[in-house]
Amino acid sequence: MQGTVFDIKEFSVYDGPGVRVTVFLKGCPLRCQWCHNPEGLTASPGIMVSAACRGCGKCRIPDCALKLKGSCDGCGRCVELCGDGYRSVSGKYFTPEALAERIMSYSPFFGEDGGVTFSGGEPTLQSEFLISTLRLLPIHRTIQTCGHCREEVFKSILSHVELVFFDIKHTDPAMHKRYTGVDNSLILANLRALKASRKPFIARIPLINGVNDSDENLEKAAALLEDAPSLIRVELLPYNSAAGAKYPMVGYSYPYSFSAPERINTDIFANRGIKTRVL
Ligand code: SF4
Ligand code: SF4
Repeated sequence: MQGTVFDIKEFSVYDGPGVRVTVFLKGCPLRCQWCHNPEGLTASPGIMVSAACRGCGKCRIPDCALKLKGSCDGCGRCVELCGDGYRSVSGKYFTPEALAERIMSYSPFFGEDGGVTFSGGEPTLQSEFLISTLRLLPIHRTIQTCGHCREEVFKSILSHVELVFFDIKHTDPAMHKRYTGVDNSLILANLRALKASRKPFIARIPLINGVNDSDENLEKAAALLEDAPSLIRVELLPYNSAAGAKYPMVGYSYPYSFSAPERINTDIFANRGIKTRVL
């Protein structure tokens, strides 16, 4: 069994308790218009080209899979040929054993609280690989998920982690579909399952001006969360204005012009006894 990883960040401190390693699994079933990791959207490896590329052509490979079959196989030969560092492969194959060994190589830095966080992309998309890897890790384990997967898959992953970061992008199904490409029925079902499991969790809400920052939407999100004893807090993430920066590097355009909210009404959560943190 192999999984595809597009980044491993050591010493992260915002993705769970203590000092952590965050592993970004490739592939996502959503297409959030504010996503700032476009290299994580597709499940297979891909090539990234810097805006500084001179177009000299030194990296041309006659039997390149991207040219012949329409999808890069991550062979890395063009990266070596460039020599200037303007090309990179996004996505590397790991077995569960190899990934667990890599993660555990950082264990001297975890201390008592630290561990690993699986993010993406969407980590539940590679559920078998994820669970196989989680089983090999005798440390604090966390996932960051959009919650869009089958409920039995979600519950199975839940039993192998100590903490969950759960995204709530919009409470309205039609708006969710408009801005992410899918409605939120699976997500809300998995949120109910998460609450029922009593697994500690942190809800994360990206805040985009005019999309999901209205008091009405935040009231509905707070209502979804107020009867959850294992909810630690809500983290609010104002839109990152650099979100579109990497799209040209992976060959996509970024036609959106979102902005962060002018004000963030944390009282809506405080009034229901829910702690918040603005990141
Ligand atoms: S890594 Fe480069 S040479 Fe290899 S398939 Fe991808 S684009 Fe082609
Ligand atoms: S990626 Fe490097 S080798 Fe390829 S065209 Fe650009 S500068 Fe030339």
